[in-house]
Amino acid sequence: MREHLARFGNILTSVCAGIASFVFTLVAFLMLKDLGEQIMASVTIGLFALAIVWLAYERPNSGQARAISALVERLLAVRSGDLTSPAPLALQREMPALAAAVDGLFEQVRSNLDNVSAMALYDPVTSLPNRIHFRREADRMLHDEGADRRLALLFIDLDGFKEVNDSLGHAAGDQVLVLVANRLRAVAKSEGKSGSQPLLARLAGDEFTMLFPEVRDSREAERIARRALAALNTPYENSDQLIDMGASIGVALCPRHGSELTGLMKAADIAMYHAKASGRSQYCLYHPRLAAAFEKKSQTERSLREALANDEFELAFQPQLCARTGAVLAGEALIRWNHPSGEVRLAESFISVAEESSLIVDIGDWVIESVAAALKRWHDCGMTQRLAFNISARHFSRPDFFKRLRAEVARSGAPAWLLELEFTEAVAMNCSPATITELVSLRAEGVSIALDDFGTGLSNLRRLKDMPLDRVKLDESLIREIDTSESTRTIVAALIHLIHGLGYQVVGEGVERQEQFEVLRAIGCDAVQGYVFAEALIESDFLAWVRRREKRLQTASA
Ligand code: C2E
Ligand code: MG
Ligand code: MG
Repeated sequence: MREHLARFGNILTSVCAGIASFVFTLVAFLMLKDLGEQIMASVTIGLFALAIVWLAYERPNSGQARAISALVERLLAVRSGDLTSPAPLALQREMPALAAAVDGLFEQVRSNLDNVSAMALYDPVTSLPNRIHFRREADRMLHDEGADRRLALLFIDLDGFKEVNDSLGHAAGDQVLVLVANRLRAVAKSEGKSGSQPLLARLAGDEFTMLFPEVRDSREAERIARRALAALNTPYENSDQLIDMGASIGVALCPRHGSELTGLMKAADIAMYHAKASGRSQYCLYHPRLAAAFEKKSQTERSLREALANDEFELAFQPQLCARTGAVLAGEALIRWNHPSGEVRLAESFISVAEESSLIVDIGDWVIESVAAALKRWHDCGMTQRLAFNISARHFSRPDFFKRLRAEVARSGAPAWLLELEFTEAVAMNCSPATITELVSLRAEGVSIALDDFGTGLSNLRRLKDMPLDRVKLDESLIREIDTSESTRTIVAALIHLIHGLGYQVVGEGVERQEQFEVLRAIGCDAVQGYVFAEALIESDFLAWVRRREKRLQTASA
């Protein structure tokens, strides 16, 4: 009878142990996110459960039975989140090896959980807290009872990081991000105050943020921003290369610009956007007036998107004339927006907004398609003039730009040798070797290449020499005083001489007066373009203008 009771007791204990092990397995399964870890934990705990069941059934002795039931209790405590208590004393005494295995198993589960939460809260490239971690900690700092609520939030966006990634590869890009993180760590460390360290995080891609507690006023916040800027604007050393890259920083203050994290982050983001739009490598302190400008820009972006969908864009064409003979050499396609208000908007008024977003790529694709179609029409009716079009830096740097351009020219049947690509000095100065190779082959296929707005940026003459160009267009600002200022005339004459020396032709842009034209012709400028001849005209007017001009030239020479 006693034997039967003991047997029954053992069966009951083993069933309980089995149930407890099942619960434990389930909890571990739910807490661990990684499938490999889940399988490992399940197998280990399953074997462990079998061992307990076996022990409970096969080793009937009251001390061990007490130890097993203490172990079952311990395992059931996992349900209330206890992963730290050691194996029960009874188990340590009766079955020390099993107790050590239990402790080892709990330690393994704890370390796996720590790894999973570290992966969820830290950025693997820089080891900085990620966005989730930042939000959690920043919320805590903002709402900490009794803490000083005067904080400064810095929103940092690297300038030109995409170019570094594109030209040097992602591994080098990651290295640069680590350098950036280390520089920001140093700033945070030196600006930290006793007992309240700044919070630093990588939010995404090339965006970082810093939250500084106990910032007295905007002057202190601006001083910190200047310090961060100085740290980030110093060139980065990668392998044996020096990478020139800066950052734009937006600053928002709590409570002046918001006391909730979402509002503060939006304010700092708007200020950062303003810093970027005002020339990069600078910081900007938030002001409500910036929010209004930001809203206006967002509104324009929305309208531009609609304009594309509703076919509100049109091309206008401005003639380019030979300075010597007056013959029409080319037309430059300039985009116009037939706004629903009835007004025709010039490129100048909206292209820069489009350039700040990916919209410029869609607009640029529309321009290429329309230019190719127009050139095909012109060629079909016997015209021999080139058709030039403008390409923005953002569109130009797309890896598939050249492929798509070629595909569009081939699809439309437009003659490539009458096409001319215009891009600005800034684009030319930042061209990667791969882009230069593409330009060389495009030029070999007959497409002409022109450098636009020359004289507005910082031109590197060596780079100018290495570019595959056909012509350089002198910016309107160089032409403006050419007939009234002796020194401007001297500078432009020297420039023309230099550009000719490099083997390129020169086009004078923005010629508004006959006197300007006379000077340009006298100092050797090859072609001219400007209101004194014609403004940009819609296609039918342009074609009629060209025909009239050609007729006049024929009559004059007859
Ligand atoms: P740009 O390529 O240098 O074009 C010349 C600009 O000067 C045009 O302004 C033209 O209308 C204007 N212009 C022409 N003659 C004169 C003149 O005698 N005096 C003055 N003061 N200005 C003159 P628009 O059309 O507003 O274009 C401005 C800029 O917008 C262009 O400068 C070009 O950089 C860009 N753009 C124009 N169309 C496109 C386009 O289809 N795609 C892209 N990405 N950019 C474009
Ligand atoms: Mg142009
Ligand atoms: Mg220009």
